Amino acid sequence: MPAPRCPRCDRFVFLDDLVCRSCGADLGFHHPSLRYHLADPAGVEIDGMRWFPCGNRPWGCNWLVAEDAGAGRCFSCSLSRRLPPQSDPVAWEKLAAAGVAKRRLMVQLLQLGLPIVPYYEREGGLGFDLLSSLAEGHPVMIGHANGIITIDLAETLDARREALRVSLGEPYRTMLGHFRHEVGHYYQGVLITDEAGWEECRALFGDERASYQDALDRHYTYGAPEGWRTSFISEYATMHPWEDFAECFAHYLHIRATLDTASAAGMVLDSERAARIVDHDVVPRSEYPDAELMLDDWQWVSLFFNRVNRAMGQHDLYPFELSPPVHEKLGFIDRLIRRGSTA
Ligand SMILES: [Zn+2]
Ligand SMILES: [Zn+2]
Repeated sequence: MPAPRCPRCDRFVFLDDLVCRSCGADLGFHHPSLRYHLADPAGVEIDGMRWFPCGNRPWGCNWLVAEDAGAGRCFSCSLSRRLPPQSDPVAWEKLAAAGVAKRRLMVQLLQLGLPIVPYYEREGGLGFDLLSSLAEGHPVMIGHANGIITIDLAETLDARREALRVSLGEPYRTMLGHFRHEVGHYYQGVLITDEAGWEECRALFGDERASYQDALDRHYTYGAPEGWRTSFISEYATMHPWEDFAECFAHYLHIRATLDTASAAGMVLDSERAARIVDHDVVPRSEYPDAELMLDDWQWVSLFFNRVNRAMGQHDLYPFELSPPVHEKLGFIDRLIRRGSTA
């Protein structure tokens, strides 16, 4: 996907911008073409249809909605099944913050050509319950069940999320990471379509039919097994084969999004300065034929971004090491996505 640009002045705009920072144009994201158009309350004509600003624009949604969509909510917002009550503006502010991460996820799914069947079209289809622990009065468990992804909006509060990250010993914790992990659970069931696929999956991630409750108890009593780094991407991934798959799926999306962004912006690493042996000229590429080449480039690109972050006194952008077994798991996910893609 080319870097998003303003339809009026052609300058770069961020995926979550409502207004162009250069020329002040009102921006509306047209998800079928993955491009910005002008957002106009009177509607804009795109491919023979009128598109209007999403009804959730006051809450930061910059997507457009087609005239025939009915409810006045864009495709991304239409997938939200349960929300905090409208009478709770504090929860709705958090919803706006979570919406930024959710739309970024949606853009990537569309870009990858992954099938998105809404929950209201088919039992088990994709939907989101976006609820806040602070508003509900009881903890909201982040998770996935039968197509529905539940997100705790309270985690949009930096202090709360960061405290959880530290207490759980995680190298990083973000809203986008939550969305990418949970959608991994959804796509595991969608993209693995036959017994041969499940056998291949079990050979890499373990048998997902193992008791989840036992795994949960074991993980929170004893933690990750010693030496987990040699075959897992994170401590959480060691808990159960379902979690290993979802963690790897999230990382696959992280890696592809970051490489795509760097490549779309025209970034090229100098091979001599990056001190790497080159077998191709341009790192990162705009497309990769397989996961191995992608991960080879990622090693250098992530090292570069980690150096940049340290130059700013920040934590590493990508504080993970990918061992050979993790490469294999990411390769499996890469093949699943390519096979399931309609792009
Ligand atoms: Zn502009
Ligand atoms: Zn919307």
